[in-house]
Amino acid sequence: MKETGGYNTPSGWNAVASNRIVGKRMQRDLKVRFLVIGAGFAGLAIARRLAARFPDEAIALVDALEPAENSSARNSGFMINLPFAKIRANSSSDQNQWQTRLMSMGQQLLEQTVARHGIDCDWHTVGHYKVATTQYGVTQLQQLRQTLTANRIAYRSLSLSDIRQELGTSHYRDAIWLSQCSLVQPAGLLNGLIDSLPQNVERYFASPVSRISGSDPYVVQAGTSEIRAETVFLAVNALLPQFGHAKYRQLAMYTYAGLSRPLDGQYGQLLGNQQQWGVTPVEQLEATTRKTPDNRLLLRAGFSYKAELACDEVRRILQSKLQARYPDAPADMFEHTWGGAVSLTRNGQSVLGQFGRRLFGVSGCNASGILKMTALGTLLADMACGVGSSLLQETRIHCRPGYIPPEPFRTVAVNLNLQKLKRQLQPNYGN
Ligand SMILES: Cc1cc2nc3c(=O)[nH]c(=O)nc-3n(C[C@H](O)[C@H](O)[C@H](O)COP(=O)(O)OP(=O)(O)OC[C@H]3O[C@@H](n4cnc5c(N)ncnc54)[C@H](O)[C@@H]3O)c2cc1C
Repeated sequence: MKETGGYNTPSGWNAVASNRIVGKRMQRDLKVRFLVIGAGFAGLAIARRLAARFPDEAIALVDALEPAENSSARNSGFMINLPFAKIRANSSSDQNQWQTRLMSMGQQLLEQTVARHGIDCDWHTVGHYKVATTQYGVTQLQQLRQTLTANRIAYRSLSLSDIRQELGTSHYRDAIWLSQCSLVQPAGLLNGLIDSLPQNVERYFASPVSRISGSDPYVVQAGTSEIRAETVFLAVNALLPQFGHAKYRQLAMYTYAGLSRPLDGQYGQLLGNQQQWGVTPVEQLEATTRKTPDNRLLLRAGFSYKAELACDEVRRILQSKLQARYPDAPADMFEHTWGGAVSLTRNGQSVLGQFGRRLFGVSGCNASGILKMTALGTLLADMACGVGSSLLQETRIHCRPGYIPPEPFRTVAVNLNLQKLKRQLQPNYGN
C-alpha cells in the first residue's frame, strides 16, 4: 500500500478561498485512454493539454486528497519569472535561457487559463523584494546585485527607512525590489484550474492509487475502483519513489506556512504602507513572507526531511520568525498553519521521462513549482503524444537530476547540508 501524502492540517489558503470545490470520489470502474495521477500544477497541466489535443477521448484525473489540499495549494504563491539559476554567477547562459523560456511558457499558460475562465485567484503582478537578514545574506545580496547588473536586469535598492516604511519591519539589513514576479492565492488558482478543465476530463478526489499492474492496458487500483488505461502519467511530486521511480534522484522535504487573519484596527498598519507585497530571503533557511490584498500576513519557514513536523513545533517555528520581524504582532495572529511536501533533487534539475511502455512521470519541483511544473506537465503530455518542439528537446537535455545515495547516507547528507545552512544564519559566519 502506498502512502497517500495526507497532511496534519488543511491548507489555510483553501480554507479562505472563495471558489472551493467539492471533489467526487471514484465509485465505479473505468476504461480510459489517458489516466493522470495527481491533481497539482503538473497533473492539471497534463490533463488540460491532453484534453485540448484529444477532445473526444476519455481522460481521468485521480488524486488521493480533496481538491486544493496538496502542495500546489499550500505554497506561498510566488510566480517568479526569473530563474534562480540566472542569478547564480556560475550557471551557463544556455541553462539561463532555457529556464527563462520554460518559466515564460508556464506563466503564459496559466495567465491564458485564468483570463479565459475568469478564475478568482488574486493574481497581481507586483514584483517582489529580495532581503538579507544576516551578514552572510548582505554579502549574498551584494553578489546578486552584480549578477543582475551583468545580466541587465533592473532592480531598486532600498534604504533601511524604505524597508521600514514599505514592509513595516526593521528586521532586514538590506533589500532590493525586482519587477519579475506575480503573486497569487494558490488554492484559488488550483480550484479554478480544476473547475475549468474540459468536460472530457473526469476528476476524482480522495481516491488514492494503491497499485499499478499490467501495461497493455495499465490496471490501476484507485480507492475501491479499478481504472484501465492505455497511457498513465505520474504527477505525484514527492511520492514518485512510492511508485518505484526516481528513487535515487529525488527526496521529500516538508516546509511550513502560517496565514494570519485580516489585520485591522491597531494592527492595520503593521505590515507597512504598500497594499500588498512578497518577500523572499537570500538565506535559504530564512522565511518567505507576504502581505495579501486583504491585509493578511503569510509566513513560510522551517524544513524537515521525510516527515511532517508536529503541529505544535510548526507553530513554534512560525511564531519565532513572526516575532523577529513583527515584535508588536499579536501572539495568536496565525489563523491557519500547515505543512507541504516538496521534491528536491541534488542539482536542482527536475525529473521528466518515460518509465514504462506508456508510463510517463514528472517531479522534482525543488520548492518552486507553480510555473515550472505547469510547463513541464504540458511538455510531458506533448512528449507522450509524440509532439516535438525545440523547448521539449532542450528540456529533456536539462532534466537530468543527479544521483542521491540511499539511506543511511542520505539522512547524513541532508543533515550536514541543513547544518551548513544553519551556520550561515550565525552572526559571525564567514569571518
Ligand atoms: C509551504 C510551501 C511554499 C511553497 N512556495 C512556493 C512558491 O511561492 N512558488 C512556487 O512556485 N512554488 C512554491 N512551492 C512549491 C510548489 O508548491 C510545488 O512545486 C508544486 O505544488 C508542485 O506541484 P506538483 O503538481 O508537482 O505536486 P503536488 O501539488 O504535490 O501534486 C501532487 C499530487 O499527487 C497526489 N498523489 C500522490 N500520491 C498519490 C497516490 N498514490 N494516488 C493519487 N494521488 C496521489 C497528491 O495527493 C497531490 O495532489 C511551495 C511549497 C510549499 C510546501
